[in-house]
Amino acid sequence: MSNLQAEALDAADPLRPVRERFDLSPDLIYLDGNSLGPLPMGVSQAVQTTLDQDWQSGLVRSWNQADWIDLPEMVGEQIAPLLGAAAGQVICCDSTSVNLFKVLAAAVHLIDGPATVLTETGNFPSDLYIADGLRQLMGSDRLTIRSVPGEQLFEALDRSVSILMLTHVNFRNGALHDLRAFTQRAASLGILTIWDLSHSTGIIDLELDDAGVDFAVGCGYKYLCGGPGAPGYVYVAHRHQKSARQPLSGWMGHAEPFAFSPEFTSAQGMKQFLTGTPAILSMVALSAALKIFDGIDLQAVRHKSRQLGDFWVSCMNEAHLPVRLASPSDASDRGAQVCYHHSEAYAVIQALADMQVLGDFRAPDVMRFGFHPLFTSFTDLARAASRLTEVIQLESFKAERYQARKAVT
Ligand SMILES: *Cc1c(COP(=O)(O)O)cnc(C)c1O
Repeated sequence: MSNLQAEALDAADPLRPVRERFDLSPDLIYLDGNSLGPLPMGVSQAVQTTLDQDWQSGLVRSWNQADWIDLPEMVGEQIAPLLGAAAGQVICCDSTSVNLFKVLAAAVHLIDGPATVLTETGNFPSDLYIADGLRQLMGSDRLTIRSVPGEQLFEALDRSVSILMLTHVNFRNGALHDLRAFTQRAASLGILTIWDLSHSTGIIDLELDDAGVDFAVGCGYKYLCGGPGAPGYVYVAHRHQKSARQPLSGWMGHAEPFAFSPEFTSAQGMKQFLTGTPAILSMVALSAALKIFDGIDLQAVRHKSRQLGDFWVSCMNEAHLPVRLASPSDASDRGAQVCYHHSEAYAVIQALADMQVLGDFRAPDVMRFGFHPLFTSFTDLARAASRLTEVIQLESFKAERYQARKAVT
């Protein structure tokens, strides 16, 4: 039944041909694009050209001749449409954690006197660590971090809060916050917003400008498929760019880096959010990877992502497995992943990988399955569900070799 349904859904899927933009083995069912996006076609070639032509032959001249120096802004502008951001508000650089530090500090600087950050207890831990690190640096008189469970967030937004710092789609269970509702409520109370879009950019039709978001950061190696350790990005609304100051004031964020002045004078616009020399090879890979979104309607992507999630849930329901849904049951409340609890989640994911289905595990007991509407098919999901059923029913996950935890789960 599921197989027939899957074939019909695939036949009607307008995004189906886009799968050819990826260098994916046809034998593998990849349900972990939310952790590391697969290799898009054209990326190897782009990196190879940078190595052979721009580095090997052009050498230091390539900073000018190959426009290396402008890559952070250029790649930022490639990402901007995915965020619903007009030009001049996005720059590509550093990791998401580092970028979050920069924008959080910049937001705190915009506030006179003691600032209170409201965030979610279940936020991505790195985001919480970064906020706490900044609090330790600035002192608890200047900065307070308040974290509450997701369901209490809206109520906790009151005038005692100065900055709302949230992750749009939860990394562990795919739960989605209403970005527009939170941002508008925050704005009505004079609260600044910082969104981490690591699990939303590329799968949701974001409208940062229209929603009135103040700051955002996100990740280049997940749905954007920029490759392992790809740089992240920063969004700062035009209205804050004159007054916002970030503390990692390195030479790349200087108005004139090659004046080598002992005094720091901040660059105008988004360049001030740069710190040190950009990772050119990674940025070239990300830039080439972003071509997967050429001509793609993000509303169609979002529509398919909801269908994929619902289809996965229906396959899992039909299988009657001893698992429990860890994600919201309504597709409107989810990003592009659907997760399940299972007491042996780690071993099950390992056994499934040996059957050519890659998902991942998040402690303590969550099996994560991520769907990328640009390459995941409904047939992939029907097959993955039947292999998962086999692993659980035949208990193949109990084998010794699936028990030992690797460094990266
Ligand atoms: C993946 C992810 C990050 C990644 O941070 P890095 O600094 O790139 O390691 C940050 N925040 C969230 C919410 C994520 O899901």
